Amino acid sequence: MRAWVLERQAKIEERPLKLVEDYPDPEPSRGQIRIKVKSCGICRTDLHIAEGDLPLHKSPVILGHEIAGIVDKVGEGVRDFKVGDRVGLTWLYSTCGSCKYCTSGRENYCPNRVRTGWDVDGGFAEYVVAQEGYALNLNGVPLGFDDLAPLMCPGVASYLAFELASPKPGDRLGIIGFGPTAYYLTKIANGLGIEVYVSTRAKRHRELAEQLGAAWIGNLLEEAPPRKLDCIVSFPPIGEAVERALEALNPGGTLVLAQVASTPITIGRYENLWGKTIKTVYNVKRSTSRAMVELAKRIDMSIEKRVFGFEELQDAMIEFGKGRIEEMTSVLKVSP
Ligand SMILES: [Zn+2]
Ligand SMILES: [Zn+2]
Repeated sequence: MRAWVLERQAKIEERPLKLVEDYPDPEPSRGQIRIKVKSCGICRTDLHIAEGDLPLHKSPVILGHEIAGIVDKVGEGVRDFKVGDRVGLTWLYSTCGSCKYCTSGRENYCPNRVRTGWDVDGGFAEYVVAQEGYALNLNGVPLGFDDLAPLMCPGVASYLAFELASPKPGDRLGIIGFGPTAYYLTKIANGLGIEVYVSTRAKRHRELAEQLGAAWIGNLLEEAPPRKLDCIVSFPPIGEAVERALEALNPGGTLVLAQVASTPITIGRYENLWGKTIKTVYNVKRSTSRAMVELAKRIDMSIEKRVFGFEELQDAMIEFGKGRIEEMTSVLKVSP
């Protein structure tokens, strides 16, 4: 099969990825399915692995963990999928199933979890194999593959943030920062009748938030929103935003920190924290991904995106690394 392969990490401008024409086709073992990849989203995590910000866990490795395609072969014992099903695969390739977290419904904390496109080969290739229990059945989601692919990463992340914030109909949800996950979160909230208050500086993001029907668009670091909010999801790695967000919350409110890193967080006035809850996003469980897929059957979860041809992956990642892609997200068209 054709595959983009990473053997040695280097700055993306040095072109560490190699397009291999005759990489061995993966074969599904017992309990596995083989996916003919149609589209695979391009993520900052792929860049981090290519450039060495994250260590290499196998070499060569095929990156890509926002996979949408069609089941093309099933291994022995597979019951939940048949050839021809539309299928998705996320960063969560598998968990151990036996640790204290896995056995108590908290597999997102499993220390033995296996990550797609890092620990095992991912979706920047014609085929990828997946554990049937971790693949997502996408039959019935009214979207094309280019829209299904990014649902597998920012899409599921947005639903996880939504679950943690748990706004009720009539609540006001704040969103700080406006990347693809925030974009999806705005769509989910709107679809469920929850008012959205967006804090972002970028002009383009303000316009997008407006198009999506945000009730208020401003900059929380400089001005308080016009009304107190019931929950807030914050994305930028800016510790300073935490106390501003807490100030903007109603008593009983929840602040969800969705960033993976942060500058130091200081809470100067205890009154700002008193009676409020802070939660952090820490990996996705399958139940979250599946709930997101069900929701995507009912509300529009398409996204603004730029689609690249298969040969263009490395150029796309170079552009992405330089911050030159204006669209919300980038998708690699793997096969037509
Ligand atoms: Zn991703
Ligand atoms: Zn486990």
